Amino acid sequence: MLSADFGHLERDTKLIDRSVAQWVHVDVMDGVFVPNISFGFPVIKAIRNATTKPLDVHLMIVEPEKYIARFVEAGADWLTFHVEATDDVAGCISLIKNAGAKAGISIKPATPVSALEPYLDDLDLVLVMSVEPGFGGQKFMPEALSKIRELRARHFDGIVEVDGGISAANAHLLWEAGADALVAGNAVFGAPDPLAEIKKILQ
Ligand code: ZN
Repeated sequence: MLSADFGHLERDTKLIDRSVAQWVHVDVMDGVFVPNISFGFPVIKAIRNATTKPLDVHLMIVEPEKYIARFVEAGADWLTFHVEATDDVAGCISLIKNAGAKAGISIKPATPVSALEPYLDDLDLVLVMSVEPGFGGQKFMPEALSKIRELRARHFDGIVEVDGGISAANAHLLWEAGADALVAGNAVFGAPDPLAEIKKILQ
């Protein structure tokens, strides 16, 4: 949703709602963990009210433990935080699960997969960043492919999600490497026909 038109948030959410996309991905940025600020609870609630699809909320905020319960309350079905953003990774996973959501951890391009090793068995999802988090519209970093393969080589059997610079041009590479959830923003909302573009990416 980061690439949606916020002046027409309901319209753009409903567009995704009637597309073949399976989830609605929501990027939350605090201006501290990343050099950009996106939006918070009221906007997430507005998105929640405009779709029946699962909300996949990606927190790019420091100390996510302070806000996990409120994000689930606002409508997150899947809640992902950054391993680099907290001193209590295991505690964050428990908070998410106890709140009734599926738990994910994300890693920035410079963070190795090995940083997740102690948590892999407890995670529903790992989100591999294929750009530096903070802004939409960036170019895909192919280093993400080896991280996806490494997660599968470590027998992680949850969802492997990739976020950043994804389009119909590279979706097949990610799928072949072992990813099963692809986040697309600019490729969708920047396309002349977003519904057709989502189909193209999935195909
Ligand atoms: Zn994201």
